Amino acid sequence: MLESRSMTITRRAVLGALTAGLAQADPAETLYQNGRIVTLDAQSRVLEAIGVRAGKIVPAAEVSRGARVVNLRGRTLLPGLYAAHDHFPQGGLAALYQVDLNSPPIGPVETMADLIRVLKERAARTPAGEWIVGRGYDDTLLREQRHPERRDLDEASSAHPIWIVHTSGHLGVANSRALAIAKIAKNSPAPSSGVIRRGPDGEPNGVIEENGGLVSRHIPAFTKEQRLKAIAHDDRVYLAKGVTTTSIMGVSPERVADLRASAERNEFHLNAVCYLSAGIPANFDTAAAMGGGRVRVAGVKYWQDGSLQGYTGNLTAPYYKTPEAKPDWHGYSNRSREELAASVLKQHRAGYQVAIHANGDLGIDEAIYAIREAAKAAPRKDVRHRIEHCQAPRMDQLDTIRQLSITPSFFVGHVYYWGDRHRDIFLGPQRAAHISPLASAAKRGIPFTVHNDTPVTPVDPLLLVWCAVNRITREGKVLGPEERIPVEAALRSVTSSAAWQTFGERTSGSIEAGKSADLVVLEKDPLTIEPAQIKDIPVLETIVGGETVYRR
Ligand SMILES: [Zn+2]
Repeated sequence: MLESRSMTITRRAVLGALTAGLAQADPAETLYQNGRIVTLDAQSRVLEAIGVRAGKIVPAAEVSRGARVVNLRGRTLLPGLYAAHDHFPQGGLAALYQVDLNSPPIGPVETMADLIRVLKERAARTPAGEWIVGRGYDDTLLREQRHPERRDLDEASSAHPIWIVHTSGHLGVANSRALAIAKIAKNSPAPSSGVIRRGPDGEPNGVIEENGGLVSRHIPAFTKEQRLKAIAHDDRVYLAKGVTTTSIMGVSPERVADLRASAERNEFHLNAVCYLSAGIPANFDTAAAMGGGRVRVAGVKYWQDGSLQGYTGNLTAPYYKTPEAKPDWHGYSNRSREELAASVLKQHRAGYQVAIHANGDLGIDEAIYAIREAAKAAPRKDVRHRIEHCQAPRMDQLDTIRQLSITPSFFVGHVYYWGDRHRDIFLGPQRAAHISPLASAAKRGIPFTVHNDTPVTPVDPLLLVWCAVNRITREGKVLGPEERIPVEAALRSVTSSAAWQTFGERTSGSIEAGKSADLVVLEKDPLTIEPAQIKDIPVLETIVGGETVYRR
């Protein structure tokens, strides 16, 4: 799923090729012409030519005579795309060091036997006693329609501790050896957050909800070399999808340092906007981190509730089909709204933007409460606090979101990947029709973005544009046609709105003179192609700061 055989072209290679081919050309200046240049500026202009000088966009008329000329031959130039909420480089870490347990269309696992087989294969080439970590299993896509349990994972190996993480990232399963290492047993007390699931005999069955740290903290951390390798890996994957900026949620100061180290090695070419996990070390130099540069810190990330497809998203009304013996099950939050509000206020006072993960409408209520209380206690202008995923808001909540100038990032990819199951299992037809209610948000003038939440689903902003415009599920049905939005609005949700959402609108997000030349060349124009084909438009070239960093 995350393979890329694409070539990354270094600055030196580009300059070398240019000077070899065009002796007189000024390598610092380029004219792109004969294209469809979809600027996404305030007037929605489509131009035929644009210039780039010293990494910035300039009007075509201002390009000097000796500039390099690129003939776009009718192809489309767009502002570079945003991965508006993800967990870079966890996709790379998973691809390089973990076992892919996703079901189609992302991965190969369709049955419990498949899942056990791929783990067993990994065990066969892993020294006994070493951890095996898997990622991406989905109980609702397994033929057995249940979570794997310790007994299933014990079949794969009892000589290795095994820990596998649900596709949502909100649940995990340990085998017996891993439970023993984590000292999770029949007599273990219930944890202060999350749930240790147990069988009728009181023995932990291996499934842990919303507190994977109970097990995962015993897994040796990735080495710095491994982490940098994953960054370089995902850099190639993202650039090949036309991404020029990634908004990374829940990062540690260590990750910020890794990204900067990788950029220095010329292995990380994207812009990164980082949202730290709450609980920032006191010695962290916030001012320096928030300063300019390609890797910067914008805010702090919270997880308030869980995921709808893990039954842990917190809804006001019960799930459509509730888990066995739990007829009123509506999910839960990770903390009270007062606890959230107290913590948000601290970060709000410190000058941060907050990004609160909330999927169910009860979780969203709590996020809104915390943001409203912070605004009351310490009024600030133009704070742009975010709600992440925001999958099942009620219409009255969208009104409040507008009033409080909150900006959501919607996980619209759910419509495609899980839409059928939201309609039939988790939310039921009425609530599912308004999952990720982009048209309702747009109607209210709410600025929003959309995202893949990689590694939950593979990074692919054009797929998201396609989802937003078509709302077609994996079964090929249209889910909530009234929430579809026009192509241009969808493109803005991965470009100009995403720049605004991360306080980058003065330098990024549209093709306008003075902005950074972060650009993507597409084979076809999403604005004019048949909407059903948007997700298949090839990305031909990705340019960051005027430099070609990916070419198909
Ligand atoms: Zn996320």
